[in-house]
Amino acid sequence: MSSVYNWHLGRPMEYPHEEHHPGRQFAFVFNINRCLACHTCTMACKSTWTFARGQEVMWWNNVETKPYGGYPRNWDVELLELLNKVAPENRRWSEAADGDSAKPNSAKPYGTFDGKTIFEAADKHVSSAGPQQALGYLPSDADWRTPNLYEDVSVGEKGEPLKFTRTVEQLPTHSTWFFYLARICNHCTYPACVAACPRNAIYKRPEDGIVLIDQKRCRGYRKCVEACPYKKPMYRPNTRATEKCIACYPRVEGKDPETEGRPMETRCMSSCIGQIRLQGLIDVAEDGTWAEAPDNPLYYLIRVAKVALPLYPQFGTEPNGYYIPPRWVPRPYLRQMFGPGVDQAIERYMVPDRELLAVLQLFRKTNRIIFKYKIEEGPKVFETEIHGKLFTQYDDTVLGYDDQGNEVVRINVNEPIHERPDIHQNSI
Ligand code: SF4
Ligand code: SF4
Repeated sequence: MSSVYNWHLGRPMEYPHEEHHPGRQFAFVFNINRCLACHTCTMACKSTWTFARGQEVMWWNNVETKPYGGYPRNWDVELLELLNKVAPENRRWSEAADGDSAKPNSAKPYGTFDGKTIFEAADKHVSSAGPQQALGYLPSDADWRTPNLYEDVSVGEKGEPLKFTRTVEQLPTHSTWFFYLARICNHCTYPACVAACPRNAIYKRPEDGIVLIDQKRCRGYRKCVEACPYKKPMYRPNTRATEKCIACYPRVEGKDPETEGRPMETRCMSSCIGQIRLQGLIDVAEDGTWAEAPDNPLYYLIRVAKVALPLYPQFGTEPNGYYIPPRWVPRPYLRQMFGPGVDQAIERYMVPDRELLAVLQLFRKTNRIIFKYKIEEGPKVFETEIHGKLFTQYDDTVLGYDDQGNEVVRINVNEPIHERPDIHQNSI
């Protein structure tokens, strides 16, 4: 085991490989507040990469309803319970965050996680298949088979695939909440799949940090399936190899015919109806810190405004997918899922300042990857109070630029209102 620095945890941690970082890192922000579970992302991915024989239950992009659902079934609850059983000590965050806005690239923006990660907990646990590099479990075939079944439906029998009750359920009166969690591989900084593979078939590309499985080296041992805390490598029975999200790397490289040679967002990102997704590439220094780039929209959202947070940072893989947490969900649930940055992130998102409001307009306005943004100030439009705080809206213009400095998007913060002419039957 080597000692590597994990800034999500705010401390060094044990990892089976030496610390080594790509020059750029594929990363994304999903705004959960906007996801409508239309599954356009899921189908865009499916129709591009996993439409063949043997890939029937393989969904590299999935959207699950929380807290009820998961693909594979109960993936996060299973691992949280395993960690609680194997390494129950100090599973909490200490208060020492150094993440004030004056120091955006801080080494511990969320404080320090004192419990054990999946790598640190692994040496105590020996699975039926032998010792593990990362604590994990292998889902059953049934766990993969029926994504979204029993989610958003009030009838059904838990744990019994395809068995529905015909009576109307009588639910107890309580406050209900749910949200949609869209997920792809996080192309983690310290991938558990890479750590676990006995064939060294999985690697992280030095140019963009995308994690790939070499199909010729893979022998289908499924160690990566067992180790990945997010359960994103998937076994394909007819090739006897494991496959996973490839981050649409031909598009990211600008080699897809549609890209005209410029880095382009993945299929799932660029098809998102709810405009919840923004994907980018982050410059990374040799020691793994993010090169300061406050005009990169992802850097701004994650490291400066701190409205976007990693998914289950306590697992320890330093995932490169970030989420703006949903406003309406009980905070203990969100703190378990996104760490202690939740309260500050939601507070800032609910009453956004001028810059944040402008950057939020960039989501899904172009399928080119935006490397930089600029804001041109416009007139004040209105002022109001939200949750006791003053909110002022300006009609600023936000501009996005590609890797060559070409303008790829220009949008006003104040959206125009279009009135339907009364020649239409349903005009107001
Ligand atoms: S999410 Fe899982 S499959 Fe993807 S890089 Fe991280 S550990 Fe590997
Ligand atoms: S396309 Fe966007 S809005 Fe629709 S389910 Fe996917 S992430 Fe959610």
